[in-house]
Amino acid sequence: MQQNINGKTKLLGVIGNPIEHTISPTIHNTLAKMLNMNFVYVPFKVDYNDLGKAIEGAQALNIVGLNITVPYKEKVIPSLCDIMPLAKQIGAVNTLKLTEKGYVGYNTDADGLFRSLNEHAITLRESHIVIIGAGGAARAVAMLCAREKANKITIINRTRAKAQELAHHVRRHYPTEMEVLRFHDIHGIDTFDVAIQTTPIGMSPNVLNNPVTDDSFYDKFHTAVDLIYNPGKTAFLKKAEEKGIQILNGFEMLLYQGIKAYEIWNNVEISDSVLEEVIRQIKNQNG
Ligand code: NAP
Repeated sequence: MQQNINGKTKLLGVIGNPIEHTISPTIHNTLAKMLNMNFVYVPFKVDYNDLGKAIEGAQALNIVGLNITVPYKEKVIPSLCDIMPLAKQIGAVNTLKLTEKGYVGYNTDADGLFRSLNEHAITLRESHIVIIGAGGAARAVAMLCAREKANKITIINRTRAKAQELAHHVRRHYPTEMEVLRFHDIHGIDTFDVAIQTTPIGMSPNVLNNPVTDDSFYDKFHTAVDLIYNPGKTAFLKKAEEKGIQILNGFEMLLYQGIKAYEIWNNVEISDSVLEEVIRQIKNQNG
């Protein structure tokens, strides 16, 4: 369905790299149509060294709201005029709202994941959570787990220093027990409850890639969450499912963080009936 673009149309978008597989435009353009709002949401692929210029340009073009995705959730922070307390605490931003002074940064990833986990009765409280990755999304996940009183958080990351920095960051805010492991130490891990995969490994088109190839890992936990939503079942989730583990992909998290961003940009509240219709339309459009 074509949107009616005219002189009053306002622009929203998402900045990332790669960006080709995003379904955020479908979410936001469906919302705009359903709520009869004159907004258009488009993807912007931005090169690593051009992020600052892109944010300045977006402000000059009066782009009223932006989502920020891989790999820019931390890198974008110096370009902001202000940052909301939750985003500051997490240290990563996924939503920008334009104000007179510039862009204000928010983080809606933690809320999006929390809502998705709750809907599937996946409990963080008093659980041992293993987070794979230590990037922008992992920061939101780690702070959410600590806030929700997980017993212990283990971070497994390629770059150990980044995992250690995240573990220290969490400990500055919460008393949660933290552990840092390398991928090659994974065989020694104790049993735990939930594994949350936050790296882009396995994302389309590299669908055969799996960050954890050690078979014994999958005997140690009962629930696997992957923040990736394309494909719907990553190699990591497929392997977990084969072992009888409960699995959840990142689709609902994406949807809920997007709904929250839309509410921030437009000062509206999205009802459950609108949400259901958005889900129906996305499923129609994406098969
Ligand atoms: P990011 O800030 O770039 O972080 C990426 C993380 O993955 C880093 O820890 C990095 O390790 C690790 N990594 C990347 N490539 C790797 C490789 N080849 N081998 C080992 N480790 C590798 O990205 P992000 O913003 O956190 O996003 C990560 C993923 O989460 C993306 O797939 C994104 O689409 C997804 N996500 C989904 C949602 C949702 O709503 N469903 C929300 C947020 C993010 P190093 O530290 O060693 O570089």
